[in-house]
Amino acid sequence: MKYTLLTVRTLAIATMILAISSCDKNNNLSLFSAADDAQLGAQVAAQIADDPTNYPLLPETGNEEAYEYLQAIVDDIMATGEVQYKTEFAWEVYIIDQDVLNAFCTPGGYIYVYTGLIKYLDNVDDLAGVMGHEMAHADLRHSSRQLQTQYGVGTLLSLLLGDNPNQLAEIAAGLANGISSLQFSQKHEKESDARSVEYLAGTDYACNGAASFFEKLLEDGQGSTSGLEAFLSTHPSSESRVEDINEKADDLNCDKTLSNDNTNGMSYQAFQALFD
Ligand SMILES: [Zn+2]
Repeated sequence: MKYTLLTVRTLAIATMILAISSCDKNNNLSLFSAADDAQLGAQVAAQIADDPTNYPLLPETGNEEAYEYLQAIVDDIMATGEVQYKTEFAWEVYIIDQDVLNAFCTPGGYIYVYTGLIKYLDNVDDLAGVMGHEMAHADLRHSSRQLQTQYGVGTLLSLLLGDNPNQLAEIAAGLANGISSLQFSQKHEKESDARSVEYLAGTDYACNGAASFFEKLLEDGQGSTSGLEAFLSTHPSSESRVEDINEKADDLNCDKTLSNDNTNGMSYQAFQALFD
């Protein structure tokens, strides 16, 4: 019996190693499942909640209007049916009260938006574009692919085999520390840009919202303020990126006109004023 179990285990490991070597070629994640993403994301979210120095989260109590506004954007994107892991991932949104021009999303769909970004943008469409882009990183499981590169096959194997019960917590802690500066490949950035357009195509928001955000960044000059540097270091902006997003919008023939300013029952300016 013991021999059989060992054989099964050895076979399982061999299969996993094969799965990993093939995933390097086709960029598939047959080893780390979507359920693993969800579990990892929940741990990262817990770590972030436990680290108010680095992540001063705005409490939901007392900030209901702000949270409802952001959740409405998430709900609008969910309603399109374009999000692949709609039910598997959490898709919860959190506000970080810091003058940082950034947003990010953990594996498993925990979305974080900095007040600095909210204040910087001009309209809800741009914000929806950025949020769609970040959500796409989670939905396309880019962070898991990054983890695979960062931690290597051995660590992920021992994680899945349960050899080190603390491993998941350690990885979650590492990810919580570095997630706001996690850098994706150009390819993943392009994929997320395109998905953002697909998400927004089925909503009232201008489907190229992400493009107008990058345009604004380009107009303001790259790295001219400290706030811009944070976002641009993780999201290299370029004319070609704006063009690609607009081309995707043309391909889909989706609506690029700005939505009604009261899409979520509040003007964007009123929403921004909540953080003054
Ligand atoms: Zn990105």
